[in-house]
Amino acid sequence: MKTASCDYCKSKTIVVHRKYSGELICTNCFTTRIEKNISQTISKYKMLKPHDKIVAAISGGKDSLALLYNLIKIQEKNYRSKPITAITIDEGIYNYRSESIKNATEFCKKHDIEHIVVSFKEQLGKTLDEIVEFKKNTPEYKYACNFCATFRRRLLNETAKLLKADVLAMGHNLTDMAETFLMNILFKRFRLIANQYIFKEERTEIEKFFVKRITPLMKIPEEEIYLYSNLKKLEYYPSHCPYREQDPILRKRVLDFIQECKKLSPEIEFNLLNGFLEMSEIFFNNYSSSSYRTCNECGYPCGNTGMCLYCSYLKGIKE
Ligand code: SF4
Ligand SMILES: [Zn+2]
Ligand SMILES: [Zn+2]
Repeated sequence: MKTASCDYCKSKTIVVHRKYSGELICTNCFTTRIEKNISQTISKYKMLKPHDKIVAAISGGKDSLALLYNLIKIQEKNYRSKPITAITIDEGIYNYRSESIKNATEFCKKHDIEHIVVSFKEQLGKTLDEIVEFKKNTPEYKYACNFCATFRRRLLNETAKLLKADVLAMGHNLTDMAETFLMNILFKRFRLIANQYIFKEERTEIEKFFVKRITPLMKIPEEEIYLYSNLKKLEYYPSHCPYREQDPILRKRVLDFIQECKKLSPEIEFNLLNGFLEMSEIFFNNYSSSSYRTCNECGYPCGNTGMCLYCSYLKGIKE
């Protein structure tokens, strides 16, 4: 019987069989290929320019630490960039974020990276747990994630602006990208998809409000980031947010649906990513000439109500 060997170096110690491509890969070639994938994504999608100030959003989980680990490796060598700064948003989630922050802090200390923690409590006056407690019996309360994601996005952007960042690096992997794209389609958020167009020109009217976001892990499935982080012995925080389990959020169901489809069509996440890349360009060209309103409170772009979601949520937690 023929024994299988690594497609790249012919070693017999196979660790991965990539169903979507048919490849068999040994440990060494696997980690090398993941790192190559990250570098190639950065260069193909022009995510970094020489001398860029990179700010990385890190939670202490596997994705963000794998991202930061790779950015550290390539930023000086390839882009002669300024020192990276890492930001962690402390939403104030009992028994979860307080723990994952320790991993983020330890990692930054070990790699000599400046690390800034921005908390909901200090910036908004309440932790996420307090917001949930305050709002949970009110008619406008949906899920903790609605508040959390809106506040976190704004605080990350504002902190990155204060740090004069050229790019804000996020740890979203292929699975996250596929899930978000499908969610945005289900809710007909075409304008949002347009705004995520990767090659859009910087410094257009609307862009001046936002630091450019980059997602160098976007072509790597979640399970491969797990394996990579374990093989590289990155000390990440392994648990999930408790709110993700508690709330019957649609996002979780969409993820389950994608996982189910993957069993029959292993390449489905790549199809969704490619669909997103193509569609975001079409939507971007479609919406680019249309005007936008600005929020009466904070001046950020917003819908027709004259108040952005961040300000309306903020108002709601202070009432
Ligand atoms: S799962 Fe929801 S509540 Fe938890 S960190 Fe993510 S967005 Fe926030
Ligand atoms: Zn090999
Ligand atoms: Zn606003």
